[in-house]
Amino acid sequence: MRVIRAKSAGFCLGVSLAVKCLDREIEERGARLRTGAAGRGKGRLITLGPIIHNPLLMRSYAGAGVVCDGDPEELRPEDRVVIRAHGIPRDVEEKLRKSGAGLVDATCPKVKKAQLAIGEAKDGVLLLFGEKEHPEVRGLISYAGPRAFVFGTLDELRALVPEPGADYCLAAQTTQDREIFLKAGEYLRARLGGRLRVLDTICQATKARQSEVLGMRGKVGSLVVVGGFNSGNTRRLAEVARSAGIFALHVEQPSDFAQNDLQKIKAGGEPAGVSAGASTPAEQIDEICGFLESL
Ligand code: SF4
Repeated sequence: MRVIRAKSAGFCLGVSLAVKCLDREIEERGARLRTGAAGRGKGRLITLGPIIHNPLLMRSYAGAGVVCDGDPEELRPEDRVVIRAHGIPRDVEEKLRKSGAGLVDATCPKVKKAQLAIGEAKDGVLLLFGEKEHPEVRGLISYAGPRAFVFGTLDELRALVPEPGADYCLAAQTTQDREIFLKAGEYLRARLGGRLRVLDTICQATKARQSEVLGMRGKVGSLVVVGGFNSGNTRRLAEVARSAGIFALHVEQPSDFAQNDLQKIKAGGEPAGVSAGASTPAEQIDEICGFLESL
């Protein structure tokens, strides 16, 4: 069958930078271990959580000796820590610096910019559109003042009772749904007027992926979104497509397709669209495209 592959599918700038940083560290470490040189090779190489949300890539990093779940309390000066693209909370960064471990900051520049913008607006009440338990959200919140609320849906936002006279700041996790964020802004502006400040922290890479998926409406019979099941931005891409009436599936590998889904994809003879989250390697997208083309 014919496949239309989204141009924006796959690694964004922040993920590319983080992965290159970690690859460089692994390479340097390997060279030191091979030559028996002292230094970085002696301690562990740690990422304090998955460097990106992609289980296939994480398995290959585990094979290269990268420790994904290091505890910041137990770092040793000979360890080396790569801060992942999502960034980390301020208190964790402080512990990290105090530990004496080597530090490579691979926080995406756009996440860093969002952290600093939230830090500058900390006199007001922060309303952050995002997933409460997402590592990027935990990092962003740590830059806010004491009054900060995370909401994941418009209903959750509507349930919040505004404090009389307080100033508010609306921001979002960088990979959130832009349409919902715009609606949240409209809703709050109508209630708070000049007391609301909006920080447009949704990343251009997210906007481009979501717009391209929406642009496939009418051109494809179905959409396959490739990426980790634990990747929020990948899941959202499939949700954005579904909310636009596109039959969309989220898969990591060819074996994830159920037989009846494959029948639906082939029915009607229309091409299948393929997109992918910002943390999906090109090889993984190639594999799915090749599989669909062979149907
Ligand atoms: S989606 Fe945007 S903000 Fe998030 S890591 Fe990628 S480039 Fe950075």
